[in-house]
Amino acid sequence: MDNVLVTGGAGFIGSHLCDFLIGKGFRAICMDNLITGNADNIKHLEKNRNFRFINHDISKHIKIDDDLGFVLHFASPASPEDYQKIPIQTLKAGSLGTHNTLGLALAKKAKYLLASTSEVYGDPLVNPQPESYWGNVNPVGVRGCYDESKRFAEALTMAYHRIHKLDTKIARIFNTYGPRMRKNDGRVVPNFINQALSGNPITVYGDGNQTRSFCYVDDLIEGVYKLMLSSLNEPVNLGNPHEHTILEFAELIKKLTMSKSRIAFKKLPIDDPRVRCPDISLAKSKLKWEPRTRLSDGLAKTIDFFKHQG
Ligand code: UDP
Repeated sequence: MDNVLVTGGAGFIGSHLCDFLIGKGFRAICMDNLITGNADNIKHLEKNRNFRFINHDISKHIKIDDDLGFVLHFASPASPEDYQKIPIQTLKAGSLGTHNTLGLALAKKAKYLLASTSEVYGDPLVNPQPESYWGNVNPVGVRGCYDESKRFAEALTMAYHRIHKLDTKIARIFNTYGPRMRKNDGRVVPNFINQALSGNPITVYGDGNQTRSFCYVDDLIEGVYKLMLSSLNEPVNLGNPHEHTILEFAELIKKLTMSKSRIAFKKLPIDDPRVRCPDISLAKSKLKWEPRTRLSDGLAKTIDFFKHQG
């Protein structure tokens, strides 16, 4: 049985990944410093023989005695509100954290997967975004700490692949949603659902004409798993290609929650990308992957999750 190290394993995506891997017969070693991750996300795994939690900051040297088959590097703040509050930790997770996890994978002769992001495309001038697009990023803007740390992480990953022949993969993850998102992480899905459920105004930033494309977490995890087992070393977009304006999305949440909340327009955050939509041709052809969950079905499960949160 392969041991898999999942950094950020107590986070939203990381914890679903631990569940999935254990289900597939792997042993998941979850590493997290719980800055934006949440121990509640892995509580149900505590007693599982195929699970182990290590509380550690991956920007510091990582020591693991076990053999490792895979290192999956998912640790990083990922919500714009989070990473703008802790930009230095974010830069360290993408730079030092990526260096440490790559070094560990090399030492253990493990395969490596980097969780990268659609933010490497910045405020894209091409829509939808194929992997071949180099992006339009403001390196010194408020989102630069996340965008540039992930761009650096991709560059370092490719360098380890080219120089050390490490078997590396890069997943460019687009907006993902589902149970275990943090209620107050500031992102659009938890914000709109919780505002709608409590009858508070739904805060649409700007005029709401900016677009995003939302992928249900189970679909995303399946894509990550297929990529992890593949022989692809170039970056691969993973996301849902159905694009919605944020205003349409607010109306949809209102409808699904049967909420009477009004829509309140607020200031658009600095450098907020105007459009975002993945071109997933590569994942479709090489991984035989595409999302299957309808937005209304995924949102129903997410709404249910938040209804049961305190
Ligand atoms: N947004 C919004 N209201 C909110 C939270 C977010 O209108 O309460 C918008 C935000 O300006 C952006 C989009 O929703 O255009 C997605 O924001 P999110 O923070 O989820 O992540 P991003 O895709 O920008 O990384």
